[in-house]
Amino acid sequence: MTAIATLGSHCSLQVLKGARDEGIKSILICEKKRERLYRRFNFIDELILVDSFHEILDHRCNSILEKNNAILIPHGTLIAQMSSKEIESIKIPIFGNKSILRWESDRSLKEKLMLEAKLNVPKSVFSPREINKLVIAKRHGAAGGKGYFMATTEAEYNKKRDNLISQGIIKGDDDLYLQEYASGVLAYLQYFYSPLKEELEFFGVDKRHESDIDGLARIPSQLQMKMDEVSSFNVIANSPLVLRESLLSEVYSMGERFVAAAKRLVSPGMNGPFCIEGVYDADAKFWSFEFSARIVAGTNIFMQGSPYSTLFYDEPMSMGRRIAREVKNAESSKQIDKIVT
Ligand code: AMP
Repeated sequence: MTAIATLGSHCSLQVLKGARDEGIKSILICEKKRERLYRRFNFIDELILVDSFHEILDHRCNSILEKNNAILIPHGTLIAQMSSKEIESIKIPIFGNKSILRWESDRSLKEKLMLEAKLNVPKSVFSPREINKLVIAKRHGAAGGKGYFMATTEAEYNKKRDNLISQGIIKGDDDLYLQEYASGVLAYLQYFYSPLKEELEFFGVDKRHESDIDGLARIPSQLQMKMDEVSSFNVIANSPLVLRESLLSEVYSMGERFVAAAKRLVSPGMNGPFCIEGVYDADAKFWSFEFSARIVAGTNIFMQGSPYSTLFYDEPMSMGRRIAREVKNAESSKQIDKIVT
């Protein structure tokens, strides 16, 4: 029997509850400092206590996982805390496609895949000297929006960049990626692609609450003008959205183009959960600034299912449970190799 394992953070509760709901053993790789928190949840069958998540590469942790026939479910914390090389060297099977996680972390590979999928991506700005309209400066990797800032001129950019350098958040220009700012309604589109059924399921939409850019809207503009702090886009929470129904066919077609592009560029493709992240502008055109090639934390809203998963399933189906269902189906039809790498 297979087990499902994940790192204790991000969406681990949803993933392991989903495993339990599908009758699969659940294992948490848990930092000692968070043991008390996770012991509260009785659907976690086993905790592997570690000082740091890097221990997943060590013999002790690995042999427990191997003994349990565990499949690791990757999430944002794995990407944020480990390099692509380290992730690729993990010995136990990883759900989905571990090679595509590198494409999520590397800005130029990321843009290549998004353009191959014919998504509308806001233009990159290659040098601060080229800034002539509102841009957003973003850090590489899964920084979660921390330390991101906006600028309209090179001088403003330099000032904000120097502020981040003095705080030790970045070292210099090379740590930042500049992109035209897309204004509108932010939407994070959550999908699941089943390599067993060769079918795409649109699972839900969320929006993020980001600090302190969201706080700015509560401050009158006269006072904003006097502020000198760099606003950040640090994700604090998520809340659910439903889209105008007329937008759904484009949502599906973006997801399908993404799956097809990933099949062409990163074998075996975009299997399992993923998210396309962006903004609907005033003409309801979607501008994608980002994708996540694994489960996103915004799915935590839908532990009991979402307005969209309800259309496919007559039972509460979270993304975590959907993953476990795929594992169960693959196991019973002897196709585990199709769902892991
Ligand atoms: P990311 O790391 O690309 O997911 O970006 C973190 C946050 O920055 C997003 O959730 C958005 O609020 C904001 N953001 C990133 N890129 C853009 C963009 N091109 N236009 C507008 N907002 C953006």
